[in-house]
Amino acid sequence: DRKAIKIDGKAIAQTIRSEIASEVRHLSQKYGKVPGLAVVIVGARKDSQSYVNMKRKACAEVGIKSFDVDLPEQVPEAELISKVHELNEHPDVHGILVQLPLPKHINEEKVLTEISIEKDVDGFHPLNIGKLAMKGRDPLFLPCTPKAMYRLLNLDMLLINCILEFVLCCDNFFFFFKNVVDGCLELLSRSGISVKGKKAVVVGRSNIVGLPVALLLLKADATVTIVHSHTHDPESIIREADIIIAAAGQAMMIKGSWIKPGAAVIDVGTNAVDDKSKKSGYRLVGDVNYQEACKVAGWITPVPGGVGPMTVAMLLKNTLEGAKQVLTSESCL
Ligand code: NAP
Repeated sequence: DRKAIKIDGKAIAQTIRSEIASEVRHLSQKYGKVPGLAVVIVGARKDSQSYVNMKRKACAEVGIKSFDVDLPEQVPEAELISKVHELNEHPDVHGILVQLPLPKHINEEKVLTEISIEKDVDGFHPLNIGKLAMKGRDPLFLPCTPKAMYRLLNLDMLLINCILEFVLCCDNFFFFFKNVVDGCLELLSRSGISVKGKKAVVVGRSNIVGLPVALLLLKADATVTIVHSHTHDPESIIREADIIIAAAGQAMMIKGSWIKPGAAVIDVGTNAVDDKSKKSGYRLVGDVNYQEACKVAGWITPVPGGVGPMTVAMLLKNTLEGAKQVLTSESCL
């Protein structure tokens, strides 16, 4: 029986966060400044508040200064935009994140477009997305979830290249994988193995996940198909894929029988399903039937503990990169 290698996003994210913390210390010693991230929240949605708290806590852990902007639900659009302008001008703020969704009376696109492209660490500015879509152009920032997905995939592909022979003759390669990740992370993170020529299927086409993921894979020379809610026979399309990115928000829609043996499966979906055995009354599952997929896929990310923790790590990394750009160019003046 095949057993897919689990890609431990939580462990990889933790290592990346330690690397970021040490770079932040280095910046602080060299320039006397640390990266700053403004996290803006409008209203009191419970889920948004918990995401924002998680991001602010993650900043504190790595030494990034978080600028907290909490605005009431009824804040006028113009006031939110003027706050964004203020943060654009603030010299200690290197990244601006406006937590979505915004209340209905506020035009989301208008607000996101006002964020300075140099501080758009969420990568949602239309200019950044446009550059991602165009050949030969590079966005200043990649959206965090697609970036997380890509990072996990790169780890994957490196493993295919570097341990395939060992894996073929090793019974217990699951544990070996963990050691490789722990021991060679430095190497893995700098290798940037491409997904060139692979058949990739992205399930979902939202502006924040599916579409940028597909564009990113296309940029990396994969052959990309996008499946959405109007696609006929998604099953047969998904079965062709070497790489499956599931981002539909549909609990366990992708069955084991839809997966090509040995495929890499990155499950972005995060869905709450009733579970009376849990204190909370629910548990989180992905868009992929994990138990079935594990028996067919070559590599798989779990939910929770896969893409989610990596997304936060990539937000921190984007903020660090933004700060480095500013601090190194200031020091050249
Ligand atoms: P979204 O805005 O609701 O978009 C869902 C996409 O999936 C749409 O493009 C939709 O197609 C497509 N879709 C829906 N049902 C489908 C079906 N049965 N077959 C094929 N395609 C279908 O969701 P999102 O914001 O992109 O998020 C997607 C999932 O990722 C959610 O579970 C969300 O919680 C999760 N997420 C996770 C992270 C993380 O860091 N782990 C970050 C963000 C989001 P149409 O365009 O035709 O409607």
